[in-house]
Amino acid sequence: MNRPLLLTPGPVSIPEDVRLATARPLLYHRGPEFKEVVGRVREGLKYLFQTREEVLVLAASGTGAMEATVVNLCSRGDRVLVVRGGKFGERWAEIATAFGLDVVALDVPWGQAVAPEAVREALSSGGRPFRAVFLQASETSTGVAHPVREIAAFTRETETLCVVDGITAVGVFPLPFDEWGIDALVTGSQKALMLPPGLAFAALSPRAWAAAARSDLPRFYFDLARERKNLLKDTTAWTPAISLIEGLDLVLDRIRGEGHASLFRRHALAARAMRAGALGLGLDLLAPDAPSDAVTAIRIPDPPGAGAVVKRFREGYAITIAGGQDRLKGRIIRLSHMGDIDRFHVVRALSALESVFGDLGVRAVDGAGVAAALRVYAEAGAG
Ligand SMILES: *Cc1c(COP(=O)(O)O)cnc(C)c1O
Repeated sequence: MNRPLLLTPGPVSIPEDVRLATARPLLYHRGPEFKEVVGRVREGLKYLFQTREEVLVLAASGTGAMEATVVNLCSRGDRVLVVRGGKFGERWAEIATAFGLDVVALDVPWGQAVAPEAVREALSSGGRPFRAVFLQASETSTGVAHPVREIAAFTRETETLCVVDGITAVGVFPLPFDEWGIDALVTGSQKALMLPPGLAFAALSPRAWAAAARSDLPRFYFDLARERKNLLKDTTAWTPAISLIEGLDLVLDRIRGEGHASLFRRHALAARAMRAGALGLGLDLLAPDAPSDAVTAIRIPDPPGAGAVVKRFREGYAITIAGGQDRLKGRIIRLSHMGDIDRFHVVRALSALESVFGDLGVRAVDGAGVAAALRVYAEAGAG
C-alpha cells in the first residue's frame, strides 16, 4: 500500500509530533502559559531569521505578510521596483498596485534569476527615487533563487529598502537578515516550517521601522508597529492562531536543535540529489543556472505532458506534486524538498517519477534517477 506523501511546494508534509502539538487543548491567549510559549517562539524566530529584531507573527497565509510589508513601509504614491520573474513576483506587483503605488516592474524570463546589475541599473535610472525593491529569495513558481545578498549589499548604501519574500527560503538556505542588511523578510508556516497554513512572519530592519513610522498607507489588521509593541510583552495584537503557534514552538525547537549549518546542508543536499535524479532520467531543469534549494522545477516533454505526470503520481503512487502555473502549466512539474525531508523522500519521489514515465510508456525503468541521487549523497560523505 502506498502511504500518501505531499511533495508540493507548500503546503508540505507535517511531522507527526508537530501535528499532535497543534492538537492540544486550547490555551487562553492572554494567560501566563501561552505567554511563555510566545516568549520561546520569539527567541526561536530570531534564531531562524538570524536577527536581533523581533519577528512578528501574523494570523494569515504568507501573502498577508507580503501585504503587511507593503502597507507598513510605503506611503501614498511611492515609487517601487518589483523583480517579476514568476507568479510570486507578479504578486508583489499586484499588491503594490492595489495600494496605488507607482510600480516599476523589472521583468525576468521565467526560469532565470535577476542579475544584480539589472536591479542596480533600474534603481539608478533617474526619475523619482524608489522607496523599495521587492523580490523573492526563492521564486516558487519557477524554482529559481534570486541573488538577495548582492542586491541587499547595494540597496543598503541607498535610500531604497530591500524587501524579500522568503516564503520558500527561510529555513531552507542562508538569508542572514542582520548580516546581509535585508530590510524586510517574510515567510509563512506551510513551507519550510512544516506546519499547516495560517501563520505569516515578518522581520523589519531599523531603517524599515523608521519608514513604517512615516508611512501613510491605510492599514488596520496588519499594523506591524502595533504587533511589535504587543510582542515585546509576549502577546499579539489580535487573537493569535494559538494551536499553530504551539506547533511552531516545537518546530523552532527542532530547528535550533539541528542548527543552521545542518539545516541548510540537508536542504542543499536534497535539492542537489533531486536535480541530479531528474538529469539522470534525461529530463531538463527549468532553472539550471540558479536553482532554489526549496523546489525543483522539471521540464516535461509532451508526450506525456506534465498534467498526465501529476495525475499518475497521485493515482498510481499516492504522491501529490505540483504542476506549473500560468504560462508553465502543462510544461513542468514541481517537486518540493522543504522541511522534514531526507534522502528517502528524494528517492521515493524519483523512483515514482521513473515509474510514472514507465507507466506512460515514455521511458524504460532502469533506476537511473535514483542512482544519480544516491551518488550525490555518497559523494557528499552522507553515506
Ligand atoms: C507560497 C508562497 C507565497 C504565499 O502564498 P500563500 O498562499 O499566501 O501562503 C508567497 N510567495 C512565495 C514565494 C510562495 O512560495
